[in-house]
Amino acid sequence: MIVVDRIAELRDRCDAARRSGETVGLVPTMGFFHEGHRSLMRAARASHDLVVTTIFVNPLQFGENEDLAGYPRDLVADTAAAEAEGVDVLFVPSVPEMYPEPTVTTVHVAGLTEGLCGAVRPTHFDGVTTVVAKLFSIVGPCTAYFGRKDFQQLAVVRRMATDLDLPVRVVGCPLVREPDGVAMSSRNAYLSADERRRATGIFSSLRAAAAVVEHGERDPQRVRGAVETEAGRHGLELEYAEVRRAADLAPLASVDGEVVVAVAAAVGKARLIDNVTMQIAGAEVSIDLGVITLAEQESTT
Ligand code: AMP
Repeated sequence: MIVVDRIAELRDRCDAARRSGETVGLVPTMGFFHEGHRSLMRAARASHDLVVTTIFVNPLQFGENEDLAGYPRDLVADTAAAEAEGVDVLFVPSVPEMYPEPTVTTVHVAGLTEGLCGAVRPTHFDGVTTVVAKLFSIVGPCTAYFGRKDFQQLAVVRRMATDLDLPVRVVGCPLVREPDGVAMSSRNAYLSADERRRATGIFSSLRAAAAVVEHGERDPQRVRGAVETEAGRHGLELEYAEVRRAADLAPLASVDGEVVVAVAAAVGKARLIDNVTMQIAGAEVSIDLGVITLAEQESTT
């Protein structure tokens, strides 16, 4: 694996790979790797000749009072993890390398970016789509891998690629959870032991939503109510709990078809997001809670 911090060098490597007929897979991240990130690298490794992973804590996607300065970083551990996953090129640019001039060009996806996280983070998705468009342009990937943990982000990036005819396949990968169900996130590093315990309530509240739907509930407000009640039992205050159509995040009159229940909660100084997707056809309900990793002890015995 090579570690690259210059755009020109990354572009050269990717151009050379494509010229010799190789396919290129891209995994964009902000680093501080966990199993969620690693699962994306494995998916890219399984299907591509050249795997590029990027680590860039993108200032454009942080609001003024957000955690840009304190965002967790560990380049030594990340380099070892990427190497272990068979990544070929790890791109770790500086902020001036990515934004030598103040940015006056922004990629904005209307509509999809307005509700859910966009309601509280009004500039966040513009920052994401702008940096992802730049990475697509630099790397020229055949496929780019994103986690379904950031469900709205995946929908927004997909829509950008479709609307701009970007020559890249955007693949959504399963949400990866800790053994107790908490969605893996670099921001879990902010949690105290007590907050970490409370965070399990987010998963419980999504399971509560799944349970009522499995029992026949089809009213989005009542499904939302089940999430809120369970979150309350865990002392969690939700920023939002929404029941939306999975394809375009549109509000629903009835819980039917492919549906996402998405939540955000502030736990201590961490803002955590999570979701569950469901496929509903009449009385048939299939729930996707993602992948729950085994506890260390269980996996080694
Ligand atoms: P981040 O470094 O948090 O910006 O995430 C980089 C990529 O990893 C994004 O596509 C995320 O959706 C994905 N990701 C983060 N956490 C998880 C998780 N728990 N499961 C699956 N993918 C994840």
